Amino acid sequence: MAGQILDGKKISAEILAELHSRIAALKRPPALAVVLVGDNPASQIYVRNKIKACHDLGIRSIEIRPPGDISTEALLTQLTPLANDHTVDGILVQMPLPPQINTERIMKFVVDPSRDVDGFSPASLGLLVANKPGPRACTPAGVMEILKRYQIPIAGKHAVVVGRSDIVGKPMALMLLHENATVTICHSRTPDLAAQCRQADILVAAIGRPALLNENHIKPGAVVVDVGMNRLTDANTVQQLFAHDQARMASFLKNGSVLVGDVAPHPMQLLSSYYTPVPGGVGPLTIAILMANTVQLAEQHA
Ligand code: NDP
Repeated sequence: MAGQILDGKKISAEILAELHSRIAALKRPPALAVVLVGDNPASQIYVRNKIKACHDLGIRSIEIRPPGDISTEALLTQLTPLANDHTVDGILVQMPLPPQINTERIMKFVVDPSRDVDGFSPASLGLLVANKPGPRACTPAGVMEILKRYQIPIAGKHAVVVGRSDIVGKPMALMLLHENATVTICHSRTPDLAAQCRQADILVAAIGRPALLNENHIKPGAVVVDVGMNRLTDANTVQQLFAHDQARMASFLKNGSVLVGDVAPHPMQLLSSYYTPVPGGVGPLTIAILMANTVQLAEQHA
């Protein structure tokens, strides 16, 4: 029997709907500042979507868009009023920053822990390690919401997380650990990745390599969470991965590209018990949790 879809769009809509009454209960609307340095096309799309989500919910958004060649000092000067403005509940600096910018300095001086809506600051990471309340990194927190709301058992299960980035893999592993999974973290130096992945009752792929995991990596009946978002333009690869899916092939022929996760879609659908599709799985949760984090910070500031 094919795996069931974990519908991220549905869960995201639920989370956003729950925020309305919390926002209405506040004396002033929550406020989120978004800093986008330069004109990276992917970042522009992410920022546009975040601003739109704020608008839809009645969260005040403040956009700051310095040029891509700005120096660290000039950026710090430009962001100082923001850092001192305590009517702003959350500050998000869209990553990656251009290479000349000292990211650590910007995060340290601009995003204090009480406004760290992305959960990336060392203080927020410390709270996560200690399993204390605090803003959590949006994407792994979104994965946890999917698993919880679909009542996927976590305690006592073996979770394998492939990827160890500070923004996805590591916090993901800690969140699963706090829910009492036994957690293995794999990365690019892990020997025999397939054997590790086949141990997983819950397999999370956060790698950034199109369809790297396939039928050799999935234990039949595993829950598979695919965080990866990769755009494919090569017709042969698309044909190989989506030959079973006429709708996606048609979409590729129309648009010239198609999104694929880090897990090959066909074996994921066939072998898993539940899986997050790409798109429509983990992706929609990231913005929903960002909004939830903003509201939570506003409640704390009130
Ligand atoms: P990073 O590039 O920061 O980290 C990738 C991780 O994968 C690293 O730990 C790396 O190992 C590991 N890795 C790379 N190649 C291999 C390999 N061949 N075998 C095993 N492990 C490997 O990526 P992110 O964590 O930022 O993102 C991961 C994916 O998730 C990307 O596709 C990204 O687009 C997507 N993403 C999706 C979001 C969403 O909203 N759905 C949000 C954020 C990210 P090592 O540490 O050894 O280099």
